[in-house]
Amino acid sequence: MSLISCDKVTKIYKMAEVQIRALSDIKLEIFSSQFVSFVGPSGSGKTTMLNLFGCLDKPTSGDIRVMDTDIVKLNYVERAKFRGEHLGFIFQNFNLIPVLTVYENVEYPLVMVKSLPREEREKKVLSLLDEVEMLDQKDKMINQISGGQKQRAAIARALTTDPKIVLADEPTANLDHDSAYKVIHLMKKLSRKIGTTFIFSTHDPKIVKEIDIIYTLEDGVLVNRQEKK
Ligand code: ADP
Ligand code: MG
Repeated sequence: MSLISCDKVTKIYKMAEVQIRALSDIKLEIFSSQFVSFVGPSGSGKTTMLNLFGCLDKPTSGDIRVMDTDIVKLNYVERAKFRGEHLGFIFQNFNLIPVLTVYENVEYPLVMVKSLPREEREKKVLSLLDEVEMLDQKDKMINQISGGQKQRAAIARALTTDPKIVLADEPTANLDHDSAYKVIHLMKKLSRKIGTTFIFSTHDPKIVKEIDIIYTLEDGVLVNRQEKK
């Protein structure tokens, strides 16, 4: 069964004078444990696509099913609940909380969403920090660590609630090449190891080589799907 399926998905942004067709007639299927990226130049529809998967916006027309839920039909409250239960997010500018330590940032979603006993919470946070090679940085404040380290902490944070899908819009855009590479490798490793599907966007050709499944967007049209064997 597919984790995400889209059929005839179109998104038109309607503004006062003009209509912008951000996505046209998108059809695709994404499965469990896949490492997927949307590539294409600025304005090609990558962010719009990820926002639809993330239940942050609705298509103008078409069907989107995520984990067998028809997300187009969900109301505002149901969408928020769905996000909290099934999805994780990683952002271009990290979105970590500066007044908290690395450890506290990773722990934060667990404190907010699930009422886990303290010891289990601690075990989980430490094991995720270990996975992203950030255990030795756990007591640092966010302004004391590098961009690459911030993004690795953000990956751990996205995984604390055991989401089936992690969405990342241009997660390496603010990183130097080596850090970007490390972040991509880490996501790829985790997609295999813990079975989470990572879906992200990039326009960095150096990174594209590392991706298993590449969807190319041009002016809102899915022009190519390439899968590495
Ligand atoms: P990308 O992430 O690939 O740069 P986007 O999905 O952000 O592409 O944008 C696709 C198209 O939709 C662009 O033409 C952009 O200007 C337009 N667009 C994106 N968001 C909005 C919005 N909120 N209102 C109006 N137009 C938008
Ligand atoms: Mg974008």
